[in-house]
Amino acid sequence: MITVIAAVAENKAIGRNNDLIWSLSADLKRFKKVTTGHYILMGRNTFESIGRPLPNRTTIIITRNKSYFKEGCLIAGSLEEAIELAKEQEQIFIIGGAQIYKETIAKNLADQLDVTLVHEVFDADVYFPEIDTKIWKETKRESFKADDKNEFDYSFISYQKI
Ligand code: NDP
Repeated sequence: MITVIAAVAENKAIGRNNDLIWSLSADLKRFKKVTTGHYILMGRNTFESIGRPLPNRTTIIITRNKSYFKEGCLIAGSLEEAIELAKEQEQIFIIGGAQIYKETIAKNLADQLDVTLVHEVFDADVYFPEIDTKIWKETKRESFKADDKNEFDYSFISYQKI
């Protein structure tokens, strides 16, 4: 099972200046809970943005740079190679960023999308691709209001491939 996990604004914004645009405590907690113990696949920009391998997960960094090395991480030269490295796993997570999401969706490589929809519009320089409702069916939605720890209203939405 290949799951794309992303936090996406109403206008599809996901990042700016190689960083996240917002900080939503509930989303970070959910990301940690869902991905802990699993392989997480990411583009090199996203890795640089996070800055370190996340604990209790196996990090695969996708880069075309053949000499790229990061202590404690696996390196893959393509998205397909990254998936191959994780193929023994029952569940793998593709955690971004925009280039990797776009390629994953365009090549139809994922089985499931796990989206935190942030009910706000943001200026951004990277966006999540359109979710084609002919391919993806929403199977679950939980919605929450902003509170002390979460500045914006948000929904956790699951999509399964039809
Ligand atoms: P990515 O994280 O998608 O990384 C892009 C890099 O990945 C490329 O420069 C290249 O690395 C490598 N790469 C991409 N495609 C391939 C391929 N087919 N084969 C080999 N290597 C490949 O970068 P983006 O700039 O698109 O996204 C980063 C932004 O996304 C940041 O703002 C980040 O904060 C945000 N983000 C948001 C998330 C959210 O849920 N809201 C989640 C994750 C990130 P190289 O140049 O080394 O060859």
